[in-house]
Amino acid sequence: MTENPVTQDQVQPRSVVARLPKYAAGKPPASVQGMTAYKLSSNEIPFGPLDAVHQAVVEQNSLNRYPDPLSTKLRDALADYLDVPAQDIVTGAGSLGALVQILNTFAGQNEDGVQDEVIYAWRSFEAYPILVQTAGALPVEIPLLEDGRHDLESMIAAVNENTSVILLCTPNNPTGPVLTQAEVDDFLARVPKNVLVVLDEAYIEFVRDEKSVDGIHTYNENENVVLLRTFSKAHGMANLRVGYSVAHPQITENIRVVATPFAVSSVAEDAAVASLANIDQVLERVEGLVSERERVVAALSEQGWKIPSTQANFVWLPLGANTEQFVERANAVALSVRGFADEGVRVSIGEVEANDRFIELCKESLDLA
Ligand SMILES: *Cc1c(COP(=O)(O)O)cnc(C)c1O
Repeated sequence: MTENPVTQDQVQPRSVVARLPKYAAGKPPASVQGMTAYKLSSNEIPFGPLDAVHQAVVEQNSLNRYPDPLSTKLRDALADYLDVPAQDIVTGAGSLGALVQILNTFAGQNEDGVQDEVIYAWRSFEAYPILVQTAGALPVEIPLLEDGRHDLESMIAAVNENTSVILLCTPNNPTGPVLTQAEVDDFLARVPKNVLVVLDEAYIEFVRDEKSVDGIHTYNENENVVLLRTFSKAHGMANLRVGYSVAHPQITENIRVVATPFAVSSVAEDAAVASLANIDQVLERVEGLVSERERVVAALSEQGWKIPSTQANFVWLPLGANTEQFVERANAVALSVRGFADEGVRVSIGEVEANDRFIELCKESLDLA
């Protein structure tokens, strides 16, 4: 692209737009002669929809009508499943949509010109800096610890009178570790009550660590906590865009004012309800992926790799300057993985054959570790 000189007679975006990092969606795998290609770059599950979900999509016959703006059926089903009041749930177009609602409600530039500050760990979910700055707020990024966990002490130390929101990602995308209940309890005891703490639990269904934070319990105990959940990962519905937040009414009633109406289509809503109605099948698939994760982690550690402990459906290889080289080697064997330049590579747990091939690739790539 050529740079146009800025002229007075052209429309110009807000100055923040030029500073935003670009969201890099996971790429599809390159095709290699004689090899099945696998996409391990977006943390999707490798399965097609459950029969009941597919059925719910096919049976849609009111595409000419707007959906229920309150997603009442889905919120009732979720209220049942999570044992929370339906009033405490707000749906959105994916949990990204739900996060946009939250940030636009609680973080931005105030009438006196002062920007709210939003603290989050970094590296974490790459959408955070984009959404925070688009909302008009100031991003405050606190580097992860060596082992890929949040540095909660430094996050607390970063809180000041302008802090309005803190984002905690557990398990952390892209590194994998969870926050423990003890860590979060201690953190919340020290965070001012007027700061909203978001627990992004996109991968909650894959967590097996008993010490991991229990989001629902934590929201029940804290008026300033909001949970983010999604149907994109464990439920395998990334393309349908359904997510939600769970928080107390003084939070949700404000979020509803800001939320884009009709964000969740009836197609997506009915599919999500069907998925919840068949949660056993969902969790059975998840169980299979968790054992694949454990298999991959064990193989890598046997090979000598030192990687952060992961509770999600992906692993993180902290390859630093060798990141790009690993990504190229993966492409050469028809695996797409997600590289973060000079930091590392995130690889989703996929089909058994894909995981086998990834394990083999790691064995041959110890020179990069
Ligand atoms: C994938 C992911 C999301 C979910 O995105 P959707 O908008 O629900 O598809 C949210 N947070 C994190 C950390 C993620 O990795």
